[in-house]
Amino acid sequence: MKLKPLKLIGIFAFASITTLTQAQQNDQNQMDNTLLQEWDGPYEGVPDFDKMEVDLIKPAIEKGMQMHLAEIDKIASNPEPPTFENTIIPMEKAGEALDRAFTYYGIYSSNVSSPEFREVQKELSPKISEYSSKISQNEALFQRIKSVYEEAQKDSLEAEQQRTIELIYKDFEMSGANLSKEDKERYAEINKELSRLYTQFSNNVLAEEENYVVYLDDNQISGLPESYVKSAATAAAERGHEGEYAVTNTRSSMDPFLTYSDERELREKVWRNYYSRGDNQDEFDNNEVISQILKLRDERVELMGYDNYAQWRLQNRMAKNPQNAMELMEAVWPAALARVEEEVADMQAIADKEGKNITIKPWDYRYYAEKVRQQKYDLDSEEVKQYLELGNLTQALFFTAGELFNYNFSPVEKGTVPVFHEDVKVWEVTDKTTGNIVGLWYLDPYARQGKRSGAWATTYRSATELKGDKPVLSSNNSNFIKPAPGEPVLVSWDDAETFFHEFGHALHFLSADVKYPTLQGGVRDYTEFQSQLLERWLSTDKVINQFLKHHETGEVIPQDLVEKIKKASTFNQGFATTEFLVSALMDMKYHTTDPENIDPREFEKEQLKELGMPEQIVMRHRSPHFGHVFSGEGYATGYYGYLWADVLTSDAAEAFAEAPGGFYDKEVAHKLVRFLFAPRNAMDPAEAYRKFRGRDANIDALMRDRGFPVPSDSK
Ligand SMILES: [Zn+2]
Repeated sequence: MKLKPLKLIGIFAFASITTLTQAQQNDQNQMDNTLLQEWDGPYEGVPDFDKMEVDLIKPAIEKGMQMHLAEIDKIASNPEPPTFENTIIPMEKAGEALDRAFTYYGIYSSNVSSPEFREVQKELSPKISEYSSKISQNEALFQRIKSVYEEAQKDSLEAEQQRTIELIYKDFEMSGANLSKEDKERYAEINKELSRLYTQFSNNVLAEEENYVVYLDDNQISGLPESYVKSAATAAAERGHEGEYAVTNTRSSMDPFLTYSDERELREKVWRNYYSRGDNQDEFDNNEVISQILKLRDERVELMGYDNYAQWRLQNRMAKNPQNAMELMEAVWPAALARVEEEVADMQAIADKEGKNITIKPWDYRYYAEKVRQQKYDLDSEEVKQYLELGNLTQALFFTAGELFNYNFSPVEKGTVPVFHEDVKVWEVTDKTTGNIVGLWYLDPYARQGKRSGAWATTYRSATELKGDKPVLSSNNSNFIKPAPGEPVLVSWDDAETFFHEFGHALHFLSADVKYPTLQGGVRDYTEFQSQLLERWLSTDKVINQFLKHHETGEVIPQDLVEKIKKASTFNQGFATTEFLVSALMDMKYHTTDPENIDPREFEKEQLKELGMPEQIVMRHRSPHFGHVFSGEGYATGYYGYLWADVLTSDAAEAFAEAPGGFYDKEVAHKLVRFLFAPRNAMDPAEAYRKFRGRDANIDALMRDRGFPVPSDSK
């Protein structure tokens, strides 16, 4: 649907504007909103980032939602019998103005937030959820979708249409669209109650993080790095404890403390505080909250005829069902446990040699692992940084995209494409052979106030055939520290990997070749894999020799340093894999067991015993503070997904390693783009992977990457 508000205003200009009612006037003003306007300028239109204002956000989103709902109503009330053309196509096209408004909304919430914007966000959030339930609960609309779907089950549509209708139908069905009126009411009640419990769960965890702070004096900071001591002093001062040092009850404070502190008793105290969050049998205890959540989730999926929550959730994931996910985890589990035994033995040897009369406990693991690391790997991260300069790394990204995707990146002249901050740079992406424009790549590299932490990728516009395949507008966002003029930005190896990772998401957007917007969607245990895979190019010879150069001397990073980095990647994998896997296993067990029989405190204990959990390690997220799973539904029965994506990553990387041209093999690269990137969700992920690899993924490569024994070698 096109916006034509300006023309209307032109007509009214001849009449007296005062003849408009107040409501009409508001309507006119809203439709005039810059943030709803079609994009103009180069590249078939780009967002007007230089014209956006916080005050415009609320009216734009509200008007955009109203317009989208009107379009949906029109589709739902069409008197013609439902078809793909008169129902699904217009649905896929609808809501364009709102999409544009949300692009600006996204920039405000992630890149340039402010107290004013957060107020707007607070006001809009209930309205946005009301708007989306108006669509998902639109009975007339669902009946049309269902009819198109049922028709397509009898007589298939062409492949992309078939997949589109199946994905859309499944989405509605999974949110209860097929329920009777009575059951729908119960369903809505359950959701309301769940969202209250999710908030309570996370508030309890937050309270426990704030309520348990350990204060140290000058005699208790032995072993801690200077930077840690400094920030601990600030944290103490902020809490009215001048002259002391605060170890707060968060991962970013706990983890380095347990790694470096020489004070064993304090390590135990910090460890106990952290892993008891939500489990202190007081007003913030989360065990009862977990019981209620599990019962309600189970009741809700039972209304829809599913045995358990995991079965409902996983049906449209690559794993498809809980059994497949469990099988993978159980295959890796014994190797992880065996590695833990070796790691503990290494650590015990060091403790014995130091003449400490102790056996390794959970609060000793990180501390002694760090000693083993220094002994075995001796990697100086400051030295590595000297070879990782941001400008060079950016060129390394472009080189990789050129080799694999046949893309060329050239900087867009400043001022031709509007940006929301002077630090943002824009590149034009073209096909090297045809010269055709693929899209734009925006990079917002530096940390600033109002920008969220971490690194992420997003699109301002995706390409679909239905919408005329306009240039893709992709973006990457990081939080590097902005240097003084003329100074280089030097980044850690981890951050360089993340830079490649996020660029992988951007390439996934840029290379999309699908007909309908629904097919752009992601599959949770699959979409991280493509970008994880791209990280592997950082340590390929071609990238190392051309781009990993000393920022002053231009000397290529020494081979032995690269070897150390690679070797260090298998370090402490027993600990890392075990603490992760046990959380993922528990997540699945909670959601495949009848909740009537679950008392979380007992259940966790029993299950850990059954799994043979080593006493030196604890779950990365113990149940009473497992926010991924209990403070919302994003990762409930989805925590295994990280491992699932890792299996695909390792297996696909070996496809390159084994090819004649290695990581730059043209044939494998071609298959990579064609089957793993371009189709996005237009093809079943398992089928897409099979087309790329010629077989299903197996865990051998993952086991090799983690330095674990490979199952097929022992057969
Ligand atoms: Zn990612």
